[in-house]
Amino acid sequence: MNYVDEVLAKVRTKNAAEPEFLQAVEEVLESIRPVVDANEELYRKEAILERITEPDRQLKFRVAWVDDNGQVQVNTGYRVQFNNAIGPYKGGLRLHPSVYLGIIKFLGFEQIFKNSLTGLPIGGGKGGSDFDPKGKSDREVMAFCQSFMTELSKYIGADMDVPAGDIGTGAREIGYMFGQYKRIRGTYEGVLTGKGLTFGGSLARTEATGYGLLYITEELFKSHGQDMKGKTCVVSGSGNVAIYAIQKAHQLGAKVVTCSDSTGWVYDPEGIDVALLQEVKEVKRARLTEYAAARPSAEYHEGRGVWQIKCDIALPCATQNELLIEDAKQLVANGVTAVCEGANMPTTLEATQYLQKNGVWFIPGKAANAGGVATSALEMSQNSERLSWTFEEVDSRLNGIMVNIYHNIDDAAKRYDMEGDYVAGANIAGFEKVAEAMLAQGVC
Ligand code: NDP
Repeated sequence: MNYVDEVLAKVRTKNAAEPEFLQAVEEVLESIRPVVDANEELYRKEAILERITEPDRQLKFRVAWVDDNGQVQVNTGYRVQFNNAIGPYKGGLRLHPSVYLGIIKFLGFEQIFKNSLTGLPIGGGKGGSDFDPKGKSDREVMAFCQSFMTELSKYIGADMDVPAGDIGTGAREIGYMFGQYKRIRGTYEGVLTGKGLTFGGSLARTEATGYGLLYITEELFKSHGQDMKGKTCVVSGSGNVAIYAIQKAHQLGAKVVTCSDSTGWVYDPEGIDVALLQEVKEVKRARLTEYAAARPSAEYHEGRGVWQIKCDIALPCATQNELLIEDAKQLVANGVTAVCEGANMPTTLEATQYLQKNGVWFIPGKAANAGGVATSALEMSQNSERLSWTFEEVDSRLNGIMVNIYHNIDDAAKRYDMEGDYVAGANIAGFEKVAEAMLAQGVC
């Protein structure tokens, strides 16, 4: 049997109850087939694919905390340290009721290749908990974060594993976790990224994922001899990634007409008002109904539906598997030119293949949203130097990194006669560097 098929079969058997992890592994292994076929004997002997699909270690722990009624609550915490061949483990912490080991493994696996694509020395990891910060008081969130970090602090460190934010983990949660780490370990180190600006955070980190998504999209259009000015964009989500993607799209002359949250979505043909969206989501932590109530040009709809709006560019920025085959068909029927993923794996495999077959330029999340982790790595550099760079310096490095990522994935696809297949390009370029480092470091 072919080596890729053999490993896929083993991974399916071993991880049968983790569909998101299997989906991520299948996508990567399918698209690196040409590289594996060209090196089959060496990779098989060295068990490169078995090793890269098995986390270095996975931690699962109890997180007990006391709510405002004096009741003890119990959540489950996770950290998967997937691969540190090219640098310390790096990846966010997701706080969402849907979190279980399979979600953290899928995200940690994707993170290996994404981090490699940034060109910076960071390995892949991910963590989180099934805790839901929504509707909790600040004191309850702090109680959870302190309990979570009390256990996690045993396994992380500035040169070992540096977590960051993700869904449900923003500046508030990172602040509480950093405080607890410092209290337990007694060291003031850059153990988390996404920190506040008064205690080691980097300027432009908050904006980085959304801005980076637009920088790579801009480069994609430029490379095809087109401009983003005047283009209509449809965005899903209204969290950190979505807000700054919308802001940068407007700065680049495009118009974003939708956003969404887990209960509904907004269509605003005059263009989303970013300041109002920030007020609703970042300050009040409220639902999108409040945006629609304050903005006469906006329509609010319950449920999901942003992909039915006619657009040139679609930017899924909410969560995994939120752009399905019916959505892909609707986007193609409406003449979409590009789909660039702000979220991690928001497009199902079937929808991705449909978009690609129909000539849509498709940039996967591991390339398109790498600006967040890249800027986290820049935060680590600033912490090590004990210096802070200006917003312009960080933003210009971010722009350079995203432009490089585009050309790396484009070149990798061309090298293997798959021009325009940015999924294959991203997986190949990300994999080649990690595989080379693993081979050089011997059996471990
Ligand atoms: P936030 O928590 O700030 O925002 C998430 C947004 O998506 C919210 O609007 C949320 O709605 C919506 N959402 C979450 N889960 C669901 C769901 N199951 N169904 C429908 N909508 C949902 O997270 P981020 O913006 O940070 O992250 C968004 C995506 O981007 C994730 O896939 C994340 O892994 C990825 N990412 C984030 C990076 C970062 O730097 N923040 C870096 C790279 C990738 P509601 O408020 O109602 O829950």
